[in-house]
Amino acid sequence: MEPTLNNSIPISTKEVEDDLRASSSAALLSATHHHSSSSHSPKKTAAATFVFISLVISTAVALSAAVAFAFLFFSASPPSSRVHLDATAELSRPLSKLKHPVVLIVSSDGFRFGYQYKTHLPNINRLINNGTEAQRGLIPVFPTLTFPNHYSIVTGLYPAYHGIINNYFTDPVTGEKFNMGSHEPEWWLGEPLWETVSNQGLKASTYFWPGSEVKKGSWDCPKHYCMPYNESVPFEERVDTVLNYFDLPSDDIPSFMTLYFEDPDHQGHKYGPDDVRITEAVVEIDTLMGRLIRGLEERGIFEDVNIIMLGDHGMVGTCDKKVIALDDLASWIEIPKEWVQSYTPLLSIRPPPGYSSSDVVAKMNEGLKSGRVDNGDYLRVYLKEDLPSRLHYSASYRIPPIIGLVGEGFMVEQTRSKGQECGGAHGYDNAFFSMRTIFIAHGPQFAKGRKVPSFENVQIYNLVTAILNIKGAANNGSLSFPESVLLPTY
Ligand SMILES: [Zn+2]
Repeated sequence: MEPTLNNSIPISTKEVEDDLRASSSAALLSATHHHSSSSHSPKKTAAATFVFISLVISTAVALSAAVAFAFLFFSASPPSSRVHLDATAELSRPLSKLKHPVVLIVSSDGFRFGYQYKTHLPNINRLINNGTEAQRGLIPVFPTLTFPNHYSIVTGLYPAYHGIINNYFTDPVTGEKFNMGSHEPEWWLGEPLWETVSNQGLKASTYFWPGSEVKKGSWDCPKHYCMPYNESVPFEERVDTVLNYFDLPSDDIPSFMTLYFEDPDHQGHKYGPDDVRITEAVVEIDTLMGRLIRGLEERGIFEDVNIIMLGDHGMVGTCDKKVIALDDLASWIEIPKEWVQSYTPLLSIRPPPGYSSSDVVAKMNEGLKSGRVDNGDYLRVYLKEDLPSRLHYSASYRIPPIIGLVGEGFMVEQTRSKGQECGGAHGYDNAFFSMRTIFIAHGPQFAKGRKVPSFENVQIYNLVTAILNIKGAANNGSLSFPESVLLPTY
């Protein structure tokens, strides 16, 4: 259907890679940096400068020698203080009972970063305290919607490259419509983890995940290992089914497993992120994590399983008074609803042939900036190729030519609504902190009590293939990312 997409995957994102490199090497460099800046002298003669430079050089040499010495002789001893040296000092722990590494990804839909502080959550806190956490959360991809993000997590690709550019959209070439029940392989590009794992002769299981029911390579949603989506299955039953996989003969225990809960996304949409019913839903998720932990402990394998608990996006409160109505732009340009593929929080517009998209963008922005459109300052529209490059949202023919970036918590509608309802939404710019979700990882390859800087969820694919020690497909994640999060193995 779209033969060229896969060939144009940029293998890594430079700015993210640079960020990571800076953060992972910062600790080692900081000793010398501090030294040279604190001994900087404003008065300099040539001689003083020479002496100063030689001092810096000799100090740097002495310091690096000391650091090298420390690595050579004390690398196996526990760190004495909370410097980042612990990443190098600590090694991954050997498996006690399982015969091969296992990664279990648990997704709690719409688990906004910060929900973990709403109340006492003993089980999630246990994973945090004894595992590795993205200190300021996991960054979703744009648009911060459920299907694009879940599929980015398992492919390492931005939506423009994995093809699921929205929860629903129309293919402009065939006119066919994608929705969350579409399982035809043509929609789903890239290589999801379950395919990578089974292509290499290992077993994978999916207890719900967008795309998991789609036939890809050697993966054809095997019976008993791949559950067809049914939201009425009780959460406890999902946990128990995953636990039962560990009772199989060793060769049949999946190396990669997924587990999915729809909450607290449901409550977030209905009541907004600050409602007491969110707290209740989060407590329920914590109880389910407790059920999982207890089941693994009873089997003596809790410390053997790499559990990655995450979400797909966050949530922000919305209210009807924060609406931008497209009809209000009529004095500048009329936008018929047939042009609009999705309204909010991802506004995407495909004008019919014969209309100039750049003309539409110019007229819309003129109206929005005029001061005469309610909340007009909270919507800007772009030709997709003019969107900020950090959004990676242009390189697919499936993405409509005009995209609107909506202010945090604002909504776009065709006609101004009369209600005063409040609720919650996601799908906004992934730079908004409210769109962040959690990354909590616990298991033999993760340091205990470690915090890592925030990262985008396209990094997770490489993280999983590194833990399983298998070769991954090309993707948008960085190849050096796993070593910045995982404990080294020897
Ligand atoms: Zn979601």
